[in-house]
Amino acid sequence: SVKNRHDVNYCIYDEMLRDRLRRQQYVVDHIEEAVEKEYVKVYYQPVIRVKTGKICGYEALVRWEDPNIGLLLPSEFVETLEQFHLIHIVDRFVVKKVCLDYKALVDAGEPVVPVSINISRLDFELCDIFGIIENTREEYGMPINMLDIEITESALNDNVGYIKSECEKMRKKGYQIWLDDFGCGYSSLNTIAEYDFDVLKLDLIFLKSFDRNPKTGTLMSYIMEGAKGMSLQPLCEGVETEQHYEFLKKAGCERAQGFFFGKPMPMEETRAFTRNKGLEWETKN
Ligand code: C2E
Ligand code: MG
Ligand code: MG
Ligand code: MG
Repeated sequence: SVKNRHDVNYCIYDEMLRDRLRRQQYVVDHIEEAVEKEYVKVYYQPVIRVKTGKICGYEALVRWEDPNIGLLLPSEFVETLEQFHLIHIVDRFVVKKVCLDYKALVDAGEPVVPVSINISRLDFELCDIFGIIENTREEYGMPINMLDIEITESALNDNVGYIKSECEKMRKKGYQIWLDDFGCGYSSLNTIAEYDFDVLKLDLIFLKSFDRNPKTGTLMSYIMEGAKGMSLQPLCEGVETEQHYEFLKKAGCERAQGFFFGKPMPMEETRAFTRNKGLEWETKN
């Protein structure tokens, strides 16, 4: 029985914690089945070439549509799967699914653009992620320049030497390596001087802050200028408004991604969306 407000709060907190633990346990217990039964899905979000407004690529983003508990976003399972050393199950599935979807488009004579995938730093320990990417890509006949690899800065903190040399090997083969979430959390400016990346993804916190602080725009312009000086293409995440897009045009940003252009959607839906909106794909010829 509840005696005072303190106890009520305690009960609610306890209930929330229990609920969170239950969901975590569910994720851990069901991930293999969810991948097998394809409750785990790949959504695609368009990436726009700022100068032309054409779609120059997609980012593959994972979703878990569970028949028992509904839609799960990456924020509700990626970290848990990392903690339990199960994230590679998702990431190798995404690699395969992206290659399959690509092949289906080519077979149907549809225009294609490159797709970028997110890999976890733990994939390097839990499996041979680059080997898997290379083999899967070859199996489905996906060209190297159609599959880009996004890696977050935190990946580069731990096992620096190993991951760095693996990334260099991949780039020599012709893969693009993109630095994701730049400017958030662990980021240090030195990382972009130490490594060779192809695209620098400015985290969406920049545009969030831009809305209330004009100095952020100046900072972003300098970062993007500096990136281009190092042959790194700037890409801004979280473009939600016309004002954001106008700013990026002026600042000379190369690529943009955000709800303003389109949210992540299943492959079929994103193709239909593109046609309905009269958008064009940037094809490589
Ligand atoms: P990320 O790689 O930085 O992906 C961008 C996130 O921003 C996505 O969230 C996307 O839906 C969201 N986003 C895109 N445009 C906008 C916008 O205009 N406004 C706002 N507020 N958000 C926007 P999502 O899909 O929930 O993914 C979250 C994170 O989960 C990703 O961040 C990535 O780190 C991770 N993740 C997603 N898919 C995978 C995967 O297949 N493997 C691994 N290891 N991690 C993944
Ligand atoms: Mg990403
Ligand atoms: Mg990102
Ligand atoms: Mg992010």
